[in-house]
Amino acid sequence: MKDLRHFTSTLCALMNVQKPTLSVSDIFDNLITSDAIPKTKALIFAPDAFGFHALEHFPELHQRLQEMSTHEVKLTAVVPPVTPVCFGSLFTGATPAQHGIDTYKKPILKCDTVFDALIRAGKKVAIVAVKNSSVDTIFRERSLDYFSMDYDPLVTVKALELLEKNTHDVVVVYHQEYDDLLHDTGPFSEMAHWALDRHVKTYDLLIRKVKNVWKENYVIAFTPDHGGHADPKTGLGDHGVDCAEDMDLRHFYVLN
Ligand SMILES: [Zn+2]
Repeated sequence: MKDLRHFTSTLCALMNVQKPTLSVSDIFDNLITSDAIPKTKALIFAPDAFGFHALEHFPELHQRLQEMSTHEVKLTAVVPPVTPVCFGSLFTGATPAQHGIDTYKKPILKCDTVFDALIRAGKKVAIVAVKNSSVDTIFRERSLDYFSMDYDPLVTVKALELLEKNTHDVVVVYHQEYDDLLHDTGPFSEMAHWALDRHVKTYDLLIRKVKNVWKENYVIAFTPDHGGHADPKTGLGDHGVDCAEDMDLRHFYVLN
């Protein structure tokens, strides 16, 4: 089974960019056709903790994601399935031991990342994320544009604005409401369900904007970092354990 690391190698293959130093080589083969023209632009939407367990529980959301996307891939998170460890692997193509974030900590990554690889290839990159989140902090000190926003809706507004202005080749958009609400109210509470629904609606908004502005030759990816499970004692959500609920993921792509 492939895992989060294979996102980096696959994105680099799709964009014909040399992958970062520590990246795994294997790719999600079903996304690559031998005659494909390299994609020039990418939009990466990363909703925190939106794992396969949530899609199993709310099949209507799974169906909507499938309808919006051209491809779906099965993969797992990395251990331990917590946010900085997982996004570290997603955006370096490396194991936690290799990239160095192997517990819940948020240092600036010193190793080669997909962002460094994209910048070397001449791509203009933007990361739009909730202020002080892992995605906002661990990829700092690169020649890219960072936008730290107060919360998800403002992240979306900024991302739509950047897409509309067409100022960047690669835009990362990070949301965290589902992760926040699964911890506070349980993974399948009404509030948590609304958060998942908003993440799916945001993906739809971003797809429509990309189609409108970029027209063709792009990748859109929906790349959550891990899932979550209900703590049997409290009913509240948690993650960080090597179990199916926390580890199993589906990523979605729109290739055009
Ligand atoms: Zn997370």
